[in-house]
Parts: sequence; structure tokens; C-alpha cells
Amino acid sequence: MPLPVCVKCRREMRCEKNSFAVVDSAGVWDGDEYACPGCGVEVVVGFGAHPYVQPHETGFNREIARVLLAGEGLRLEEQR
Ligand SMILES: [Zn+2]
Repeated sequence: MPLPVCVKCRREMRCEKNSFAVVDSAGVWDGDEYACPGCGVEVVVGFGAHPYVQPHETGFNREIARVLLAGEGLRLEEQR
């Protein structure tokens, strides 16, 4: 069962985009965006063990701007 499964629809999700970035306080993470063919819910999964760019590294802010402007990522909302 290599693919994410939608609990609501009980269907395997489809990969919509490889290399979809998620930005959090630790850095920029590389994952894959999946969507449910039934209800359309979207998730990002398959992150590596570490962010590929961290806040102390040169180019951190430039990489965030690049992925957000290109629609190739999102900034994680903080937990409430
Ligand atoms: Zn679904």
C-alpha cells in the first residue's frame, strides 16, 4: 500500500506534484502533493529526514520566495 489513502472515500490518492515544498520554523521541506480523486482533499507527504534549506543557510529567504511565488509550496500555519 504505497499510496496515501483517503479515509472518507476509502480510495488511494493520486500524486498531483512531486517536489512540493512546505515551509516551517525548521526550514523548507520537500514532499509530494497528493489529492483524492473522490472528494478532492489534498495532502503533502513523503518528506525527507531534514529540511533541504534551513534558516541559517544562505539563500533561505530566496528559496521561500521562489517556491511560494511559483506555487510550488506553502507556508505552514502555526499550531493554535
Ligand atoms: Zn476523498
